[in-house]
Amino acid sequence: MRLSNYFMPTLREDPADAEIMSHKLLLRAGMIRLLVSGIYSYLPLGYRVIRKIENIVREEMDRAGSIELLMSAIMPKELWEATGRWDNFGPEMFKLKDRHEREFCLGPTHEEYFTDLIKSVIKSYRQLPLNLYQIQTKYRDEKRPRFGVIRAREFIMKDAYSFDRDEEGMENSYQQMWDAYDNIFTRLRLKYRVVEGDSGAMGGNKSHEFVAMAESGEGLIVYCNNCDYAATDEKAKVVYNVEASKEEELDMEKVHTPNATTIEDLVELFNIEKNNFAKALVYEALGETIVVVIPGDRELNETKLCNYLKIPSHELQMADEETIIKISGAAKGFTGPVGLKGHVRLLVDSRITKMKNLIVGGNQTDYHIKNVNYGRDFEGEVVDDLLMIEEGDICPKCGEALVMDRGIEVVNIFQLGKKYSSSLGAKYIDENGEEKLMLMGSYGVGVSRCMAAIVEQYHDEYGIIWPLVVAPYHVIVTIVNVKDEKQRELGEKIYRELTDAGVEVLLDDRNERAGVKFNDRDLIGIPIRITVGKKASENTVEYSLREDRENIEIPVDEIMDRIKRKFEEEGLKL
Ligand code: ATP
Ligand code: MG
Repeated sequence: MRLSNYFMPTLREDPADAEIMSHKLLLRAGMIRLLVSGIYSYLPLGYRVIRKIENIVREEMDRAGSIELLMSAIMPKELWEATGRWDNFGPEMFKLKDRHEREFCLGPTHEEYFTDLIKSVIKSYRQLPLNLYQIQTKYRDEKRPRFGVIRAREFIMKDAYSFDRDEEGMENSYQQMWDAYDNIFTRLRLKYRVVEGDSGAMGGNKSHEFVAMAESGEGLIVYCNNCDYAATDEKAKVVYNVEASKEEELDMEKVHTPNATTIEDLVELFNIEKNNFAKALVYEALGETIVVVIPGDRELNETKLCNYLKIPSHELQMADEETIIKISGAAKGFTGPVGLKGHVRLLVDSRITKMKNLIVGGNQTDYHIKNVNYGRDFEGEVVDDLLMIEEGDICPKCGEALVMDRGIEVVNIFQLGKKYSSSLGAKYIDENGEEKLMLMGSYGVGVSRCMAAIVEQYHDEYGIIWPLVVAPYHVIVTIVNVKDEKQRELGEKIYRELTDAGVEVLLDDRNERAGVKFNDRDLIGIPIRITVGKKASENTVEYSLREDRENIEIPVDEIMDRIKRKFEEEGLKL
């Protein structure tokens, strides 16, 4: 392709609302363009990257025995009502009506549709296992679209669904997809970790995320260097060591604590450590007020709370001041588990039951109560673990210190079990003539998110550094001065010959200053660069790689060898 007649609207300035490098660079390099919040188009260079990622995904899915098809993005309400997700998906689901007032949604994911399709076709155990996938546009009205195509409202996903006869089959299918994803991310050159994920909203009992490591990532993960434990922050089990205390239970005592509404205030006032306090957090969910009591030195994990309550996260809300006053009789900051008023559902993290002589909110403005003990002074529903993991926590498997890191979730895989097959009636007849429910798995890769994750890992201050395997073009040939006949001729010749040899080449034949061309090629990140300049008459050009930007002079007839060598180094065929 010739840049003189290409569509590559690069931007000189950083876009104002772009917070992270991939977002900035993809916009600036003219790879993507914003229409409205969370809605992007993929411009020619960006779309070539997307197609390369898609093809790698496709090849590995095919190799793993999954079969490609394409379903509609529009689905009728009834399908989603059958599984309860018409409501449970909440405000993230784009809903619409047709001219007859029938309701539809734009698919945020496709478990219902695939299950419905399979149920109408598959009847016998002989037809199982089966694994189908599609690469398709998905729609989610994200609460906070951000980071460009990382959290968009329209995005490209590869979603696959497996259908098996039994648990063992489902485990196998899950492992096959896991292996396929290992291959995909190795080929995409993404540094990643696989961690246990939360499967609450999706259903089922086991899930993993593939997380591309990036400082800018929204996802917080923990892992252990001593064993194989790794999980998202939401999922990670918190080991909070409280030996069942043998301390004597002292008498409760009201203490005047004016304006002490935070744990920090209280630590100062009482001059003791945070772990002597219990926090009471007030929420509203399921039409009632829920008070959650956790150790004072920890944060609540809302995902664990939602899972316990069996509600989607959008149905959990912090209570407002008015509700807090109603149930505690006191201002915010003075709520405690002793003597709450009216009907309140009291949940207690299990660690609280082992702690002695706690200080809690007094349910009276400006008062706390000392020496409060579970069982004697209050009781509630004891929940094993409601805490958020923190720096310094230990591994629940081996007890070593956990490491925390950040990343971008690029994959989520789930063992769904019978959740969807039972609600939609996806059954088969087994070898004994008995009717059984199929066991399912679902496997999603964020294709467009992967593009951004690659940029997060591969860039410098000048722009993107595409790994050769996904680069929009392999080589850029820059003619320094297009008015120079010799340069022009040689540039055209190299362009023709490389293109004929199957190399993907961009020819910068624009009538622009050399500096502009050099900046653009750094920005758009084409891996191999040939500069045709003053030495064109001697059949000498400059050769450089985007990753180190070091120019060396080489004779023209060495170009192809160098390119071949680079392909070999990257494990790619030309
Ligand atoms: P997140 O926790 O980031 O919201 P999710 O758990 O909702 O992700 P899944 O429903 O598992 O995501 O979707 C499968 C994959 O689709 C994700 O791993 C991610 O790569 C991609 N994805 C999900 N939401 C978006 C989005 N808003 N924009 C771009 N890609 C997305
Ligand atoms: Mg999401």
